[in-house]
Amino acid sequence: MEAITTAADITSLGIIESENGFLVSGDYGDNAVEVIRSDSELRCGCFIAQVSNAGECEHIVAVREYLASTPIPEGRPPLSQADADYYLSRVAVLDSTIAANAESANTQIDRIKLWLEMENAKTQRKKDYYILALDNWMHLMELSTKVLSAGTLKVRAQPPEILINDEDAVLKDGRFTRTIPEKQAVDKAALRKHVLGTGEEIDGISVILNKPHKFSYKLNQGGF
Ligand SMILES: [Zn+2]
Repeated sequence: MEAITTAADITSLGIIESENGFLVSGDYGDNAVEVIRSDSELRCGCFIAQVSNAGECEHIVAVREYLASTPIPEGRPPLSQADADYYLSRVAVLDSTIAANAESANTQIDRIKLWLEMENAKTQRKKDYYILALDNWMHLMELSTKVLSAGTLKVRAQPPEILINDEDAVLKDGRFTRTIPEKQAVDKAALRKHVLGTGEEIDGISVILNKPHKFSYKLNQGGF
């Protein structure tokens, strides 16, 4: 077997299977297409599948061939290291797509926010004219509540508000202080050590033993 496997060689593998469906590689590994499996039916989101009557396309045909040729999952050939490296480079490409989409969306969101801010400011200024006129009218008529056909107006005196500008000065005064009681908190590190050391599952906790393992990856700079 050759040590160097090119992308074109790898795409002859072509298909990655998961619980939900299949990822079918494009001609040179780019633009892989997802074929979703639901109720033993295969559905592809590609253009050809959308326009064809039977919803058929090359991706669905490829998945059928793949399923027919590999009836026993255990019988499938293991992934080579070169394939794994190639898959990781595809992850890098998809990560950069996600980042570019987020950047594009954020630019648009900033523009929309600015537009909304400016439109709201204009509208709010118009609204303020009416509000001021109505407020003045209520005062002139000495009304606290007025029911009109369009709605109800209310004028309510506000209670005085006290702002604390210098907390230290108020504390120094000494007449308006209270002691906040010490708060009990769980020492998670000590709890973990005790539970894992003794196996005792105390009241108020539950221990999950078979947590699924965590997979992670770190990409090299310019890894694709
Ligand atoms: Zn397709």
